[in-house]
Amino acid sequence: MTVFEYAPAPESRAIVDIRASYGLFVDGAFVEGRGTAFKTVNPATEEVLAEVAEASDADVNTAVAAARKAYEKVWSRMSGAERAKYLYRIARIIQERSRELAVLESIDNGKPIKESRDVDVPTAAAYFFYYAGWADKLEHSGYGTTPLGVAAQVIPWNFPLLMLAWKIAPALACGNTVVLKPAETTPLTALLFAEICQQADLPPGVVNIVTGAGATGHALVGHASVDKVAFTGSTEVGKAIARTVAGTTKKVTLELGGKAANIVFDDAPLDQAVEGIVNGIFFNQGHVCCAGSRLLVQESIADDLLARLKRRMSTLRLGDPLDKNTDIGAINSREQLERIRALCDIGEAEGAERWAPACDLPSAGFWFPPTLFTGVTQAHRIAREEVFGPVLSVLTFRTPAEAVEKANNTPYGLSAGVWSDKGSLILKVAAQLRAGVVWANTFNKFDPTSPFGGYQESGYGREGGRHGLAAYLKGHQ
Ligand code: NAD
Ligand code: MG
Repeated sequence: MTVFEYAPAPESRAIVDIRASYGLFVDGAFVEGRGTAFKTVNPATEEVLAEVAEASDADVNTAVAAARKAYEKVWSRMSGAERAKYLYRIARIIQERSRELAVLESIDNGKPIKESRDVDVPTAAAYFFYYAGWADKLEHSGYGTTPLGVAAQVIPWNFPLLMLAWKIAPALACGNTVVLKPAETTPLTALLFAEICQQADLPPGVVNIVTGAGATGHALVGHASVDKVAFTGSTEVGKAIARTVAGTTKKVTLELGGKAANIVFDDAPLDQAVEGIVNGIFFNQGHVCCAGSRLLVQESIADDLLARLKRRMSTLRLGDPLDKNTDIGAINSREQLERIRALCDIGEAEGAERWAPACDLPSAGFWFPPTLFTGVTQAHRIAREEVFGPVLSVLTFRTPAEAVEKANNTPYGLSAGVWSDKGSLILKVAAQLRAGVVWANTFNKFDPTSPFGGYQESGYGREGGRHGLAAYLKGHQ
């Protein structure tokens, strides 16, 4: 048998022009920030990519004022059909510049190029196309046609461009203007998006991008002249934001953490289920709020399934995010890596059995191997808390009722997966799962026509689909 050497297929980073430093995008132009500039790094190499401005309270004020003026003078007065033209234009430019956006996303975030190229960027464009179609049809939405005003939007680092699209597209389609804050470790695609707004001739002030960390986010969501707060991130910060806006007239949507169950019944096609389990937890290094991080497997097939899963995990390729063969890229930051390590150590200390395939980790950068815990009980912290990394906890069950009970035994409720050959069983179990999205015989499928959101500590409000319009129109939650 011929043995082939591994041949990397790296995407060229020459297509991206990263500036040495970036200002804030306010009122259609890049301006200097008054805070202390910070650096964003490539988590795969720890190379400093650029210096980024920090928006101070005064900068946030200026950005909100620009958004208010654009709302009153231009955007809310424009017909839906006219607004749609801008959204379609933005969607097309995202497609035209997709390679550039994908490479930049992988460099700043650490995710594999095959994911940024095939999922993040095309799905971001799809959300703009989808909501462009609603802009002149709001009277058929069932949620009225009156926008809220200025939306303050704060997003995390796991899907920087895609979360931006989820937030900005429906807000603009409904006639609102926005001030968006990307996460401090991944600001670069939002800043490239600002250039795309310029290229699309979007009226100044309709979209404003303020960079910074928690203090900037706090100033933005607490600003008195903001009508709507949309947040995606940790449950802890989500709760703090809910407290900040309590007692005001601001409308709020919160998209928080998750601890999804992926349930495999004994009649499921096992190889297909293994692909779904791998996709469910190792996609985007497990930095996914709806990740299938709790595998619930029927006891009678547990040994067989785990043997297949370990074999499959051994073939996952970890390394250079720009290599088109890479399955698992870098962990987004040193802080996140420390959190993952700490929770895994706790998992071992609590008595669960830890396994990872033999896997060489690069010497620079932030890396964690795909990891499996067996012998996990419902009381273990790795079964209860969101690890937000490539770590799967495996539990077993005997009956459908036990599977449902274990799946629902969580403070979260964002998503779940069910694997079975029987449609009737899938429907019966899915109906009892307390989760916003339930996937059957698949996992992590995103489409702009489908609403997404959580129960309990996973937050409230829906993004995507017709339901996603309610968050940006008056009189509806
Ligand atoms: P985070 O909640 O701290 O940060 C998310 C965003 O909120 C960032 O833009 C951040 O700058 C901003 N922010 C921080 N403090 C704020 C405040 N007081 N007011 C307003 N904005 C504020 O999340 P993180 O540090 O990026 O990740 C920590 C944990 O959050 C992860 O381990 C994971 O459990 C969870 N998380 C969930 C999602 C999700 O999609 N649901 C995404 C990222 C992280
Ligand atoms: Mg970065």
